[in-house]
Amino acid sequence: MRQRVIGLLGGMSWESSAEYYRLLNELVAARLGGLHSARCVLASLDFAEVERMQADGDWAAAGELLAGAARGLEAAGAEFLLVCTNTMHKVADVVQAAVSIPLLHLADATAEAVHAAGIGTVGLLGTAFTMEQDFYRERLERQGLSVLLPGARDRAEVHRVIYEELCRGRVLAESRAYYRTVIERLTEAGAQGVILGCTEIELLITQSDSPIPVFPTTRLHAEAAVRRALE
Ligand code: GLU
Repeated sequence: MRQRVIGLLGGMSWESSAEYYRLLNELVAARLGGLHSARCVLASLDFAEVERMQADGDWAAAGELLAGAARGLEAAGAEFLLVCTNTMHKVADVVQAAVSIPLLHLADATAEAVHAAGIGTVGLLGTAFTMEQDFYRERLERQGLSVLLPGARDRAEVHRVIYEELCRGRVLAESRAYYRTVIERLTEAGAQGVILGCTEIELLITQSDSPIPVFPTTRLHAEAAVRRALE
């Protein structure tokens, strides 16, 4: 069967891009068997550069950087695109406008999975950008979901763990314990499920850490991509 070529816009961080690559290959092998693996091309950015633009609020520069990389992926033969980070979906429209191939939006793949689980109210964990700004939450809400956020102190700690630990390959038991209490608080507040809305969180948290269903965005995005690639 002919596979569509998946374009990965990654390196944000490379810790989660490595997961994408592993998952895409495993999922294609599970579908097609034998020695089959995913057809894909990867543009891997320097995360230090991206993080600086985020911290400075220079989303225009970040959009340009990602748009340029997306054009490169299209030129390299990608037939559709994944932006391998929830946060950088802040500039998803700019990336989409730069290419003529479709972008498979991470929030859409996630919302679809939440709906399929019969859940209407979800907690959202991610970077401060993803939790506090509109671009991601509103996209979920437009698809009929109610979104609950952790309190301010919990949001700050969830954000810190992402940049200071997970994006540097540090997976610490005390941070897992902290995330577990945040998920418990979201559950008490009425969340029926929790979106792991940062592509590194599933390196730390799995279903066994949560009393409610977790929605791991790297896996959900990779699953949606393989469905599209093999359509
Ligand atoms: N990978 C993370 C996310 O999914 C955070 C890193 C970034 O800011 O891109 O949001």
